[in-house]
Amino acid sequence: MKIYADNAATTKMSQTAIDTMLDCMQNVYGNPSSLYTLGQKAKERLEKTREEIAKIINAEPREIIFTSGGSEADNQAIISAANIGKKKGKTHIISTAFEHHAVLHTLNKLKKQGFEITLLPVHENGVVDVNELEAAIKDETILVTVMTVNNEIGTIQPIAEIGAVCRAHGVIFHTDAVQAVGHLPIDVKAQQIDMLSASAHKFHGPKGVGFLYAKKGVVLSNLIEGGAQERGKRAGTENVAGIVAMAAALKESAANMDGDKERLTKVRDYLIKGLSEIPHSALNGDEKQRIYSNVNFCFEEIEGESLLILLDRKGISASSGSACTSGSLDPSHVLLAIGRIHDVAHGSLRLSLEENATIEEADYIIEAVKEVVAHLRSFSPVWRDLVSGKKEFILK
Ligand SMILES: *Cc1c(COP(=O)(O)O)cnc(C)c1O
Repeated sequence: MKIYADNAATTKMSQTAIDTMLDCMQNVYGNPSSLYTLGQKAKERLEKTREEIAKIINAEPREIIFTSGGSEADNQAIISAANIGKKKGKTHIISTAFEHHAVLHTLNKLKKQGFEITLLPVHENGVVDVNELEAAIKDETILVTVMTVNNEIGTIQPIAEIGAVCRAHGVIFHTDAVQAVGHLPIDVKAQQIDMLSASAHKFHGPKGVGFLYAKKGVVLSNLIEGGAQERGKRAGTENVAGIVAMAAALKESAANMDGDKERLTKVRDYLIKGLSEIPHSALNGDEKQRIYSNVNFCFEEIEGESLLILLDRKGISASSGSACTSGSLDPSHVLLAIGRIHDVAHGSLRLSLEENATIEEADYIIEAVKEVVAHLRSFSPVWRDLVSGKKEFILK
């Protein structure tokens, strides 16, 4: 069996998105800034696409800026808010400890420039406490940036409540919604979101394209200098085919969202139940307040990397927040943020399901993980000490 269970890392492009992209590359290849028909045709497609995308999140077309993806959108949102703050003498930003690195590293850069950054805890359940967030707001606060869905543990944050608190205090609210757009309903007006980042390759669109929503009145700073594309806020000839394919993928994902949720919730819960049977394991993040596609476990005395390699041999593509896979020496900052200690955080497994995942596949995954975990533990001396009682288990 071949199972792709790493959709939080990236998704396979949908056939509709591929067809749309090919057609666009072959037939709409003009530069949107050119005045002749071929250029204007590209410009028209671009603007029609902006309308389609805006509609899906209940924004206005002019509030959408196309970017190279989620990372760029996060950077631009945060830098823009910081620049607005600087002008007003407001240099305090609130975020959380478990944001994507596109957010955290941008905040680090601002910290070096003199901004004060408050990173809220996300507690054991991986959910921000809105009262704590409100208590952290001060007169100097210019921005709150909290992700909609965490990319590792899948927990869903109380976005509308945060939006309401920010609006009441006159603070700009940005959300990295890369894991949510196309998968959960988004309404920037109802949820009172001022800025939002999205990325096409997380909802079956192409890689290297995304968008930033910025509410009318929130002045964007451009990260890239050059031509006057995107109302002067993002220079560079537009990735027309990618942008049009992104919209095709998003329309499709949004249309299927309710059905996906209903089916996948069952598969997710089945997986959680099955994997919980593995001794000395623990689910990461709240069991219910999580996106329907995400399952994330820690297994005591397991090296995440070995787990992934052995699962790959069984045809399963999954991910881990462990050291080697993320290319750094530290275990996942997300797992540390929810209170997992280093040793336990190293033994994590993230399964992010494809929309067509089935219970049969879940059965296969459960059996495979049980087998691999038992196998890896069988030749660990530390495991022997744990079983004999010489050492104490951390996970019960
Ligand atoms: C994937 C991801 C990003 C980065 O998006 P890119 O388009 O790959 O730059 C940012 N935030 C979250 C939560 C993500 O999952």
